[in-house]
Amino acid sequence: MFRIQVKEEFEAAHRIAGYPGKCNRLHGHSWVVEAKVAGKNLDSLGMLVDFKLVKKELKEVLDRLDHQYINEVPPFDGGWNPTAENLAKYFYEQLAGKSIFHGEARLESVCVWESPHSCVTYEPDEE
Ligand SMILES: [Zn+2]
Repeated sequence: MFRIQVKEEFEAAHRIAGYPGKCNRLHGHSWVVEAKVAGKNLDSLGMLVDFKLVKKELKEVLDRLDHQYINEVPPFDGGWNPTAENLAKYFYEQLAGKSIFHGEARLESVCVWESPHSCVTYEPDEE
């Protein structure tokens, strides 16, 4: 089994509606997002999947939220709180739909770092 991991960053503001504390107020983070891809077999070059491709697709997903107020961007504009948990699930689902994940290489998990000390990992339940 091989597992590769790529990391990208974006800057954005959010607020956690209903939170009993200061996260209820508008504030920003320098978010760091990691995607892990796993698989058993390598291609003819000896790669699971090209790092460059995964980084490009992840960056494309993150660019939608870069320098935005996330609470105003779909699907978070309808009351779905942009917590690190919900962002990790959203990024996972957006990224998993990309065509680079086929055959052996599958998206395993997405981690969202809200600060250098706090992160959330989303991975779908086993079927
Ligand atoms: Zn926050």
